[in-house]
Parts: sequence; C-alpha cells; structure tokens
Amino acid sequence: MPDTLHEQVAQSIDRQRLIDTAVALVETPSPTRSAGPAADRLAQILAADGFPVQRRDADWPHAPAVVVSLPSGKPGRTLQFDGHLDTVHLPFVPPRVEDGILYGSGASDMKGGIAALVEALRVLRALDALPKGSVLFTAHEHHEGPWGDRRQVYALIREGLIGDAVMLPEYLADPLPLAGRGVAIFQATIRREGPAVHEVLRPPGLPDVVAAGALLINRLHAWRERLKQNHHPYAGHDSTFVGAIQAGEIYNQSPTECVVQGTRRWITPASGEAVQTEFERLVTEVAAETGTDIELAYSVQGDAYRIDADSPIVQAFQQAHTAVTGSALPLGAKPFLDDGNTYAAQAGIPALTHGPAATGAHTLHEAVPVDELMRVAKVYALTAIAYCSGQ
Ligand SMILES: [Zn+2]
Repeated sequence: MPDTLHEQVAQSIDRQRLIDTAVALVETPSPTRSAGPAADRLAQILAADGFPVQRRDADWPHAPAVVVSLPSGKPGRTLQFDGHLDTVHLPFVPPRVEDGILYGSGASDMKGGIAALVEALRVLRALDALPKGSVLFTAHEHHEGPWGDRRQVYALIREGLIGDAVMLPEYLADPLPLAGRGVAIFQATIRREGPAVHEVLRPPGLPDVVAAGALLINRLHAWRERLKQNHHPYAGHDSTFVGAIQAGEIYNQSPTECVVQGTRRWITPASGEAVQTEFERLVTEVAAETGTDIELAYSVQGDAYRIDADSPIVQAFQQAHTAVTGSALPLGAKPFLDDGNTYAAQAGIPALTHGPAATGAHTLHEAVPVDELMRVAKVYALTAIAYCSGQ
C-alpha cells in the first residue's frame, strides 16, 4: 500500500466527527427490539453527510435496517461493513467522553464500532479511494439474545444485501479470529409421575429427578473430556457446559422436577445437526436409565465456521493492520458468537470480526478509548481499499 494513501487516510479521519457520531448513537437508547430511533438517527447522520440511504424492513419494520452503498464505479469486489445497533436490556447509561474515553450504553457493543465504520465510509468517499468494487454498509437490529433472534441478518442475506466479505466491529482487537464455534443453548427438564412427597413416604421405586439431574451432569462432564480432543488451533475445542441446576423446595421432600441448563459448543463447520442428534441420544439414555421423562429444549444460536488464512479479506486486513500499527495481527479464535457466524455459516462469505479494544460489554460500564475508534476507522478504510483493489 503506498505510504501516501495511508497518510491521506490517517489525516482524513476526523476525531471530533467520529466522537459526535458515536455520542449521537449512544444517546439514542436502543434495547433489542426497540432500536428504531437509533436506526433513524444513524440514517439522518448519513443522509446529512450526503450518502444515499436506503431503509429496508428486513423482517423487522419497527427498525428498518440502514443500508448505504459506496460504489467506485468500476466492477470489483464488495466489502460489507456490518454492525448491530441494538444493545442488551440493561438500564440506560447516557454518553460522556472523559479523558479520551467514551462511556455509555453501547459504547463498546457496538455503537463506537459503527461510528468508526461510518467515519471510514466518509474518508473513502472524500478521497475517492476505492480503486474498484464497492463498500456496502449495513446496520441492523435483533442481535442481542435472548430478546433478538437475528432475523434482520437472515433477511439481509435472503435479500442479497451482502458483500463478498464482511467486517464486523465487535469489541475484539486481538487476535484476528479465523474461526468461530457453533453454539446451542439447552434446557433439560426432568420430570417424574406423581406428586411431591415426603422423603419417608415415597412409594418403592419412585424415580429420583435430582439423581437423574446429577447423572445427566456427570455424563455431560465425561463427554466434555472426550470432546476436548476435537480441537483446532484457531477454533479452540468442542465443549459442554452446565451453568444452572434447579430442583426441590425443602430438604426432605422428593421433588417432581429438576431443570439443567447449559451450552454445547462445536468447532466443525456444518456439524450442528449431528451434534444435536448426539446430544438428544445422551439425554434419552439418561431418561431411560432413571425412569424419568426429560423434555429437551435445544436452541442452536449459530453454526461453526472457518476462514482460510490465505483468503483475500484476511490478506487485505493484515496489510491494513500493518500499515496502521506496524505489524500483522496474530491469528486466533473468537471467544463469542456474533453475526459473523451467521454470515459465514449461512451465506458462505468470509466474516472478519475486528473492533476497538473496548471493555464492559453487557454491563453498565461500557468504555471505549477514542484512540481505539480512530485506529479501527483507519484499519477499516485501508482494508476496504486493499480488498477492493483485488480481482
Ligand atoms: Zn455486539
């Protein structure tokens, strides 16, 4: 990448404009399923900048997705910049900038990142920097669970509003994740027939739902040890996890129900159905052995994916990261699930998650350094230039 272009991009990123955009988004509350006003605000900001803004219902007319295309006028690759405008359901924290740090609801997850994407878009247009191809900016809602069900991303994919690769500004600055695990949330509700009864009055052979819950947890833990063998340097390993168990009213009463909740994560792309079948079999065995009924609610949140380290988006990103920071980013795994899993697993497009080194996501203490927003805005703009230069 020519040094002059890098310098031009660096000089064109406007710190105050970036802060103003981030603050405008943060000060418009947008808990998941109520992000309409924040989407409207973003659309107004982009329209005031002279971008042709499209609004698309995308299966959620309460907050139509915000879509902007920045074409170069020459055929080539399309890089998508995609962010979610909704935030988790916590009390609203208004924005404030103090000592170079932006605080407030969504500052880290991910309105700061969206503001950086917008700033990158402005700079690309002002410098007429895209040699070929185009950038497609999309911002949507329905991301954060359990309130949202990702319907807008699915709709954007169905409607073809996707690029050849996508960048997502979630709060992961290091490493560069080349793989994401699939995740399912499960709830096993173990029941027996008959009413709750005093311990000493139990009829002979009465199934014990607490013992069945314990057996289920032990089986899941033993399975986890075997699953660890399925590992990959950039994806981590398969796992089971139990985070909650609930049963019983008092110490000497035999309860009728025991609920076990947790997760199952896997690294092998497109193996979600096989993983679910195996999970159901384990639960059926425990039910049969304990004489209980087990109702299993098993909800797949996203499938596993991998990106080729040689793919053009990874090369373009590393070129940009090197230009901005002096070195390529180490490759690694993505600890969480994000919309990248959906884009990669459902639409088959390589999805790169890279964002500011921000803290406090999903808490009342979100904080992102403005310097980090400046850094990622440069990285996004330079990634687009490098990616769109290719064939
Ligand atoms: Zn997020």
